[in-house]
Amino acid sequence: MTDTSTRSADGRDVDELDIAPETGWNALFLDGEWVPAGDRDLIDVENPATRTTLTTVPSATEDDVDEAYAIAEDAQSAWGQRPPQERAAIVSDACALLGEYADDLEWLFAVECGGVQLKADFETQLAQGTMEVGAGLAMRDGGRRKDSVTPGKENLLVREPAGVVGVITPWNFPLYLTSRVVAPAIALGNSVVLKPDEHTPLMGGLVLARVFEEAGLPDGVLNVVPGYGHEIGDHFSGHSVPSVMSFTGSSEVGRGVGQRAVGAYTEPALELGGNNAHVVLPDADLERAIDAGAFGSFTHQGQECISITRHVVHESLYDEYVAGLADRAAQLPIGDPREEGTLVGPVINESQRDKIVGFLEESVANGATVEAGGGHDGLFIEPTVLSGVTSDMPVACNEHFGPVAPVIPFETDEEAIEIVNDTEYGLSGSVHSTDVARARDVADAMETGMVHINDQPLNDEPHVAFGGVGASGLGRYNDEWIMDTLTTLKWISIQREPREYPY
Ligand code: NAD
Repeated sequence: MTDTSTRSADGRDVDELDIAPETGWNALFLDGEWVPAGDRDLIDVENPATRTTLTTVPSATEDDVDEAYAIAEDAQSAWGQRPPQERAAIVSDACALLGEYADDLEWLFAVECGGVQLKADFETQLAQGTMEVGAGLAMRDGGRRKDSVTPGKENLLVREPAGVVGVITPWNFPLYLTSRVVAPAIALGNSVVLKPDEHTPLMGGLVLARVFEEAGLPDGVLNVVPGYGHEIGDHFSGHSVPSVMSFTGSSEVGRGVGQRAVGAYTEPALELGGNNAHVVLPDADLERAIDAGAFGSFTHQGQECISITRHVVHESLYDEYVAGLADRAAQLPIGDPREEGTLVGPVINESQRDKIVGFLEESVANGATVEAGGGHDGLFIEPTVLSGVTSDMPVACNEHFGPVAPVIPFETDEEAIEIVNDTEYGLSGSVHSTDVARARDVADAMETGMVHINDQPLNDEPHVAFGGVGASGLGRYNDEWIMDTLTTLKWISIQREPREYPY
């Protein structure tokens, strides 16, 4: 049951938001209808700061998944044939609605995701940015003409929608990570079945359904099945209907999703975990490196695939860097994200907290020193800086996904590169140096999909290719790169004059 004590200070309840559908959120979104939970099991959606239940959503079943894919399959062809400017206009209108509902969204970011205002603003901007770029793709999907080796033949490469796109997303940046697939998929003429994370079914799915419904998206083009990954995930990702399976989440789950998708002849697009290094070379501007290091480690409690999880700092700057970072960490206000000025909110749930605290305690037992933070209260973990860390300690060799900054010393650039690459992940990273050519050499040697010189790894621009290598995933998101994934190229040739055959 919904706990009325979850009402915010301004009296709002999650079911009564301006953006909420008339039936409230306890529904699936299928074929343009809000289908009530009925006798399905329910998922409690909890506020990580207070651990009270905001609302419930249905726990979709495998039958629901089958129905959603069948609906999406039926709806796709007519949608794909609609003029591109009409598809673009609907995505643009949905994007504009995100702006109109900004207050509701900011509140939801806080109570459903534990996101502070800074993060809410950042994520809303990213979601709007990716929807704008996605809308524009509708008018950019023209094919190509290629000369032929056969006399009298013309080759055309025609771009068609991939078909039905299955989308599975995580809880950490739910609105953005969902929009970055759903918006371009819809603009390019596909239909979508979306399974948001069970912690964030509103921001990761039902909110988007609501704005697309209001923007006039035809029934069946977007369908949302909130559900537990461990219950319906295998069925969802190994289904025979979708042509593309877009998964954002952990590498462990992503590997299985990819295998099941390929087994069903579905193209996987996988955005997975990271263990991102922030490298500070001996000639770095120390203050800039520390500022970037603090932002990259502690924003959204370190719960981002591109957060800094390892600080790799030259021994000549090590002590000063650790002291500066510890000073920044100690000053960050921790609390309920709805309180003004809060910069560090709760982590998402008890199991994430226990994992982070476990890595922390084991690393300290193995010789690391706590320079700031180290404690926790409920789901609030203090921004923590650890010195004396080695690459084999649990905080360094795992994606800890928390507000923890392990600092590892190095002597030579070669050693720094070795430390950076000593992981199966390869998502993002950063290098600080006043010699850009030297930083560039290190960046080139880093086995990652993205590196940011004199910044930190937490960068995503909706018109720039985003993605990793190794256990961090397959494929690239954003702009023309996601367009390649969400469309199929068909080769049509025209033999304009009789061809000579050998017999
Ligand atoms: P997770 O893999 O546990 O869950 C992600 C999604 O997968 C959820 O919707 C979940 O319900 C679903 N799921 C769980 N089991 C499934 C199964 N068997 N089949 C299909 N789906 C299943 O990840 P998480 O802990 O929610 O998210 C954090 C992870 O996501 C981190 O590793 C982070 O680095 C990664 N991430 C990557 C990116 C990126 O762009 N590379 C972005 C954000 C998060």
